[in-house]
Amino acid sequence: MLKPASLLALICIVFCPDGRAASYHFAAVWDGAKVWKDACVTVEGGRITAVGTCSGPATDLTRYTAIPGMIDVHTHLTYVMENRVAQAARGAATVFLSQSNARKTLECGVTTVRDLGASDYADIALRDLIAQGQIAGPRMFVAGYGLMVTRGRTPTPNTADGVAEVLRVVRQQVGAGADVIKMYGSTGSGRDVTGFQTFTFEEMKAAADAAHALGKRIAIHTYGPDGARDAVRAGADSVEHATDMDDATIAEMVRRKTFYVPTIDHNRYYVDNAGPLGFPAGAAVGLNAYIGRNLETARKALRAGVRFAMGSDVVYTMFGENTRELGWFVKAGMTPEQALRAATINGAELLGMQDSLGALRPGMLADIAAVEGDPLADIEVAIRKVRWVMKGGEIVIDHSK
Ligand SMILES: [Zn+2]
Repeated sequence: MLKPASLLALICIVFCPDGRAASYHFAAVWDGAKVWKDACVTVEGGRITAVGTCSGPATDLTRYTAIPGMIDVHTHLTYVMENRVAQAARGAATVFLSQSNARKTLECGVTTVRDLGASDYADIALRDLIAQGQIAGPRMFVAGYGLMVTRGRTPTPNTADGVAEVLRVVRQQVGAGADVIKMYGSTGSGRDVTGFQTFTFEEMKAAADAAHALGKRIAIHTYGPDGARDAVRAGADSVEHATDMDDATIAEMVRRKTFYVPTIDHNRYYVDNAGPLGFPAGAAVGLNAYIGRNLETARKALRAGVRFAMGSDVVYTMFGENTRELGWFVKAGMTPEQALRAATINGAELLGMQDSLGALRPGMLADIAAVEGDPLADIEVAIRKVRWVMKGGEIVIDHSK
């Protein structure tokens, strides 16, 4: 006679109500640290309860290798190509139009993002609607408006000049519900590959201190080395883009454990899509030169022992290519496993979520990507062969059949 527990497990194969334990059988499981061959991951109440030898019934995913759901720490999910709604109502329309970006991000096996800058708090709305199950998408940690210096136009809600205004805008973002602060510490974005420092060291320090005082972390964007030097010394938790960093800045990042998010691949996207994006003829020359310097800086930082996290800086039509950054990481000298760690464990640590995200261990949230092949032998497997994705115990993508 069947014991009640195994009877329950049998019923669970057919229909598994929320919170009931369910097991998934993989050819291999890379849990963030080591590989389990022919192993099961058991999930209950949205969390992992066991990883290891299979016992009892399990969903057959034995064609695949399980890895932790990946974390993209630099996205712009609300950047849509076209939003023709009247200006005053654009934010509401943006949330609607962002749904496909969220969906395509999940398709990559990315179950968590740090979204670094949006308008009209569309990112906060999107985060909350995803959390409530109204929209399919990755778990979001959002920045609200990214702080900028005056750019010679009418001030926008993110404009801040001087320490007092920086403090006000940081506190406004936190008050609005931001999880993290984003600051644009230099010029450079899209077709513009200049990297002139914008905020001063004092302004960056004020922003970092104000964010930290409120229990938030801060990401500082800088295309060039001057902004990077000051961002690191000011206490940025991560430095975004940051080409041509000098040895002293890199050494300081190692000492402070500052994360480097080089976002090399986003300029590759701009080169590939210069026409549709309306970039001027010849823009690719500057972009390609920037990519070369970006990759070289990543090599140097990697050799020095800087911690990396994977950020795509994904916008517009780039969604679905979020994890191509991992290919650049391998080109910069990482093993596939190191690259995967940047996209899992390191991302979780940058978010302060290392106890819930980034690894497949009992007690962690059940965020899993099933890939076809061995991602530790070939990083392209993790980039292009995601077949099944679970987020918080729910299957959100299934191309396994
Ligand atoms: Zn960005």
